[in-house]
Amino acid sequence: MKRQALPFLVSLLLLIPTCLVIAQTNQDEVSAQKIAAVVKQLTLEEKIALLHANGIFGTAGVPRLNIPGLMTDDGPLGVREDVLEGWGSANLKTDSATFFPNGSALAATWNPALSYDYGHAMGEEARARKKYIMLAPAFNIARTPLNGRTYEYLSEDPFLNARLAVQSVKGIQSQHIAACVKHYALNNQEIERDRVSVEIDERAMQEIYLPAFKATIIEGNAWTIMSAYNKLRGVYCSENPYLLKTILKDQWGFKGIVISDWGGTHSTVKAANNGLDLEMGSRPPYNTYYFADPLLKAVKEGKVTVATIDEKVSRILWVMYHTTLSTNPPAGSINTAAHSKTAYNIAAESVVLLKNEKHLLPLNTAKIKSVAIIGDNAIHTHHLGGFGAGVKAKYEITPLKGLENKLDKNTSIKFAQGYRAVVKSKENVNAIETSKADPALIAEAAVLAKSSELTILFVGGNRDYESESRDRPDLSLPFGEQQLVDAVLAANSNTIIVVIGGAPYDINKIKQQNSTIVWSWYNGSENGNALADVLTGKVNPSGKLPFTFPAELKQSPAHALNAYPGDSVETYKEGILVGYRWFDTKKITPLYPFGYGLSYTSYIYAGLKTDKSSYKTNETITASLNVANTGNYSGKEIVQLYVSKSNSAVARADKELKAFTKVMVNKGGSSEVKLSIPVKDLAYYDTKTAKWVVEPGVYKILVGSSSAQINQTVSVTIQ
Ligand code: BGC
Repeated sequence: MKRQALPFLVSLLLLIPTCLVIAQTNQDEVSAQKIAAVVKQLTLEEKIALLHANGIFGTAGVPRLNIPGLMTDDGPLGVREDVLEGWGSANLKTDSATFFPNGSALAATWNPALSYDYGHAMGEEARARKKYIMLAPAFNIARTPLNGRTYEYLSEDPFLNARLAVQSVKGIQSQHIAACVKHYALNNQEIERDRVSVEIDERAMQEIYLPAFKATIIEGNAWTIMSAYNKLRGVYCSENPYLLKTILKDQWGFKGIVISDWGGTHSTVKAANNGLDLEMGSRPPYNTYYFADPLLKAVKEGKVTVATIDEKVSRILWVMYHTTLSTNPPAGSINTAAHSKTAYNIAAESVVLLKNEKHLLPLNTAKIKSVAIIGDNAIHTHHLGGFGAGVKAKYEITPLKGLENKLDKNTSIKFAQGYRAVVKSKENVNAIETSKADPALIAEAAVLAKSSELTILFVGGNRDYESESRDRPDLSLPFGEQQLVDAVLAANSNTIIVVIGGAPYDINKIKQQNSTIVWSWYNGSENGNALADVLTGKVNPSGKLPFTFPAELKQSPAHALNAYPGDSVETYKEGILVGYRWFDTKKITPLYPFGYGLSYTSYIYAGLKTDKSSYKTNETITASLNVANTGNYSGKEIVQLYVSKSNSAVARADKELKAFTKVMVNKGGSSEVKLSIPVKDLAYYDTKTAKWVVEPGVYKILVGSSSAQINQTVSVTIQ
């Protein structure tokens, strides 16, 4: 018998009378009683040991009672590689994992079922790697296109974020692994993230920045949440009573653990009394953490009550009973064919066809004799890179490899790198230096393009360039890529440009210059296979942009209003007008609108109607329409429903996404589409009464294939 097992048996025996009562009560009560009994046995020192890190991703636990430490891990790209103190690789042979497409790729699928599959697969991998809290999903709103973590997050729309994130949470937790939704809240930029204070009006916060968090807590039942680095209205999120106590724990009824971002705790008494449960960080000595010796002292001095400590410990045990100590844990599995398939499915549905004017796509593979594949992004892998969470991918298929796998064996495929993609940090981590255009590589690429029937040119960013801890300096394509594009297009106009990135870039010139543009992402282990299937037509592209691409940076709301990057304070002057809400309301034409994406086929929308013309506030509007596929390829179409209210008592966005669905329509066929909108979802947040108000009157229901392409409209009345 292991030495520690004896005391645990004793503690179990002590629990027997409780267990008898437990049999007649429901699951939550069971846990509550069991937890209370365990808390009773803990010394104050043991309790404190549960409330702070004792290693980069873990806590100590209480060996005397066989209470294990918590083991967390990043997310969201997959289960990260193991690292040592100081973040260096642990150089293990056992910590590879599936690399899943990045957040904005997942959002571009507009497919909640895939978001569930992603969570499920990542949960299985976390279990296999014995990591019981996945620090994912991450879904701060894309307020500025420059945010270095845009690629990790989902979209610019709260509704789309909520629908996707809820499913990721459910998928992860189906494996008895806690999801940790992050970063709560208002962490919309990396510049000055450790000290910036967000000033925002309450309505914008409630309508834009909180809904996806609320949905993952109430609907998704997320077991943990990460407080953000920044401040809200002068108070750090990790010690913000309004965010953590009033909203999260009191109003939303959150039962799990509030975990600080790493090194994001700034006080002992304030944080402990204002709702933080667990302090994480990566810099020893861990006993000096705010929630270590200083917390013990604060309790002894009566500044934090034992009841407060017990509540935190109870929350931690509650999460443990759902995860580490779950009595019927799933087996877990890693790097399986099923996980690769999930990564492939997401990647395949995420690719966005931006332009296809010459119908170069899908490629006529039987006819093409020679292809020039140009650009570093054809051979670049994205599972690691930059600062922040990566995955030691078991494998990652590059676009070049994917095309070699899929193109006809008789087709000659030649590659030229075209540009070097080197990113060097300067002393100040916010500043970087990137490699410039390389005339020799460009010349070589142009020669290859000229001698080939078709060129596929890969440009865009990479994960060294888009990175946690800094924002991008501007929207321009890095590494002198535009010069490469100019030279290649001059050599061969039969060119398909594939841009790979996790956030909007300035591709104005490319849009003018070239007939064919495809957008892809940091698309996971199966990146190249999925992309090649889209290019060759095995998969009909069905991704749509999860954020607006501005024609220039100053079109974007935070930039137009000079409300970024702030300094110690950043005022969100645009209020609720984030993303397409701003562009539509202000009638600004972007480069590409939110929700935009083409297909190899064409769809016609017809017959939009609602089940009734007038509704009460507790009812649900059901809208239905017919989507016909009038082209030559079967495909999936994302049908988007926006709602618009004119003559409102409050300022409104021109329209807001309230429902969407992704529907398969066979060529020559059509599909009946039904979309539901609970009337309560039409409410605005009234700052005077702090209540959600559904305004009576007429609302327009707009259904289209993007925020800028509305195909059908109908009006309803709310009583
Ligand atoms: C990031 C978190 C991440 C944590 C642990 C922080 O820098 O903001 O998203 O989970 O590090 O790696």
